[in-house]
Amino acid sequence: MGKKNLDWSNLPFSYMKTDKRFVANFKDGKWDDGKLIKKDKVCITECAGVLQYAQTCFEGLKAYTTQDGRIVTFRPDLNAERMENSCKRLEMPVFPKERFIQACFDVVKANKAWVPPYGCGATLYLRPYMFGTDAVIGVKPSKEYQFRILVTPVGPYFKGGVKPITVRISDRDRAAPHGTGDIKAGLNYAMSLYNIVDAHKCGFAENIYTDPATHTYIEETGGANILFITKDGKLVTPKSDSILPSITRRSLVQVAKDYLKIEVEERQVNKNELTDFVECGLCGTAAVISPVGKIDDHGKEITYNDNKDEIGPVLSKLRETLIGIQMGIIDAPEGWIYEII
Ligand SMILES: *Cc1c(COP(=O)(O)O)cnc(C)c1O
Repeated sequence: MGKKNLDWSNLPFSYMKTDKRFVANFKDGKWDDGKLIKKDKVCITECAGVLQYAQTCFEGLKAYTTQDGRIVTFRPDLNAERMENSCKRLEMPVFPKERFIQACFDVVKANKAWVPPYGCGATLYLRPYMFGTDAVIGVKPSKEYQFRILVTPVGPYFKGGVKPITVRISDRDRAAPHGTGDIKAGLNYAMSLYNIVDAHKCGFAENIYTDPATHTYIEETGGANILFITKDGKLVTPKSDSILPSITRRSLVQVAKDYLKIEVEERQVNKNELTDFVECGLCGTAAVISPVGKIDDHGKEITYNDNKDEIGPVLSKLRETLIGIQMGIIDAPEGWIYEII
């Protein structure tokens, strides 16, 4: 099967309907076998739990072609585990880890023609998600659920080079203390939309949230964890119960320690410390690392990497190393790369 005729290097980061999606249904206390289907439309009751009370969570990972032509995915076991935590927190049934990984494989194989070729910078984005499908009118968990995985090819996050972004410290919160900030629930994103639209209007690429209890410590942005580099070259990343445990961040921490011999501190980061760091970046599956050039703290500007219009040397090294591991150019730690085809 040949590849689709797409302008791979110029794909946007947006949804495109591909050939097949994986669908499994939970009913009478158990999951069915699941299957790959063509139809992209979902048909559910108007009173479904997801529509009334936002009972839904999701994951995000990517499949891509390595230098030697294999199609692989990166640490899907951690996405399965994280989704398990999201489901438990939202009173949803768990889709078993082994089946989650198998379904990722099956849906990528069924859409092989949509997996971007090596070297174009694009990847096939996988979006596993689950939602309550039966009617609920009183506030309670659904009894029936659907688990799906859709895939869509997405373009390189940075076109024409990795460019630093400007972000602001937000006065709003993305998570409540002891709330749902540490799970990938749709509701966390719904409530961040107003604030991200407002940030964009004000000329900022993202909002940095502080801890919701005291607004003293740095947490993360709406969709990415944060990394800092100290003057003496240490990697510092915020630790908190209300941030989402990014798989990219956890991988970068290990890469820093084991590959680059960089000292790592996972700890609370006070707002007052922002001026002590020399590099700052956001991390997540889509961009791996997006450098932050400037943080606006209520009009006070903090700049990184000497205000140069490029990613700093330490974050650059981290980013290149992780991408090298993902692309099969650098040897990966055991169990990081799952070969699909
Ligand atoms: C998905 C997500 C991330 C990034 O996680 P990765 O596993 O690295 O893609 C970070 N923060 C939030 C709030 C997220 O939803």
